[in-house]
Amino acid sequence: REQKFAAITVVHSETSTGTLTSLPELAALAHEYGVAVLVDSVTGLAGMPVETDAWDLDFVLTGSQKALALPPGLAFGVASKRYIEQAANATARGLYFDLVEFEEFVHKNQTPSTPAISLLYATAVQGEYIARETIEARWARHTEMANMTHSWVRQLREDTGQAFCVYAPEHARSGTVTAVALPATLNGDDIVKGVAKRGFVIGSGYGKLKSSTFRIGHMGDHTPDRLALCLEATADTIRELLAK
Ligand SMILES: *Cc1c(COP(=O)(O)O)cnc(C)c1O
Repeated sequence: REQKFAAITVVHSETSTGTLTSLPELAALAHEYGVAVLVDSVTGLAGMPVETDAWDLDFVLTGSQKALALPPGLAFGVASKRYIEQAANATARGLYFDLVEFEEFVHKNQTPSTPAISLLYATAVQGEYIARETIEARWARHTEMANMTHSWVRQLREDTGQAFCVYAPEHARSGTVTAVALPATLNGDDIVKGVAKRGFVIGSGYGKLKSSTFRIGHMGDHTPDRLALCLEATADTIRELLAK
């Protein structure tokens, strides 16, 4: 309200906690005060709806290596006209990540410097796969995998009588990644190791949640069928650790 900020930065799908931020509400509030909204949707875009125009987002950034299921090495951004104009008027915007220069090159179907061209070919192919599945079906597949994972956690809690729970509150859960909070008797790293022995890679906890959580990424080209096998391997590992 005191107009102290030119912009807010926000993580759409927060990967260490599996938390989802509601962008439309946040953007509406920020714009009420003339504040630009800059979004990290690295694990959101292509896995969950991101309506850049309808939600009036000023800048959205994503990477190739998460829900787009491409090799790492490319970043994609969408900027609003308003934000590019704002950048054009900035006196010291610097050379790196210059939106105005990017925009000029877009009109020539070029990039300011040589991109990872091999990855652009991969992007074109993945774009065809996504179009064939349809983006709406892709979102639905992610929702299905997220719901499966949440139910699995509930079942695990019931079966073991232990305090397993989804870290993020029910109204703010990411569709692409779930952080599972553990009872104090278990350590996330042990679970990750046991699951690896069974042929699946899941994530350990991150930062302060390193030992008290583990994470399951259900994004990109993963399918409910494969996820079911991964959840089975994880439950198996946990039962083994609890029996020790
Ligand atoms: C993975 C990720 C990034 C960027 O990761 P890099 O591996 O450094 O490219 C940024 N934000 C979120 C939310 C992420 O999940």
